[in-house]
Amino acid sequence: MKNTQPTPVRVGIMERRRPEVVATLDVRHLNGLERAWRSTKRSFAVMGVMLLLGNLAVLFFPIPHVHLCLFPLAFVLGPIIAFMSWRDRVLLPKTDLPCPRCQANVTIPEGLGGWPARFNCDACAAMVELNAG
Ligand SMILES: [Zn+2]
Repeated sequence: MKNTQPTPVRVGIMERRRPEVVATLDVRHLNGLERAWRSTKRSFAVMGVMLLLGNLAVLFFPIPHVHLCLFPLAFVLGPIIAFMSWRDRVLLPKTDLPCPRCQANVTIPEGLGGWPARFNCDACAAMVELNAG
């Protein structure tokens, strides 16, 4: 992958103030174009799925409220998703890390953006938080 640099990342958990661990990960730094493209793709995916669900709801459940709610929701959620993905400046690699709370190996989910990047530990369900080091 292009523009991937070994970057120090602070690994902590959200709920308690524990000393954070610094790990060096091959973080992919996104440029402006990549950020715009990624957020456009994401918002269209979300809007597409919701419009599809809205259409299916009209076919299978003849309740007018369902699609009356889903269509405006799609057009509200789309830009929100776009904005949230656009804020991600980096993409984290799919790497194993020791969980800061239980030390079990946790895998960073594919395509996780930052900062901060958050995901749950499979073993102890702690919210692991990654920040730029
Ligand atoms: Zn854990």
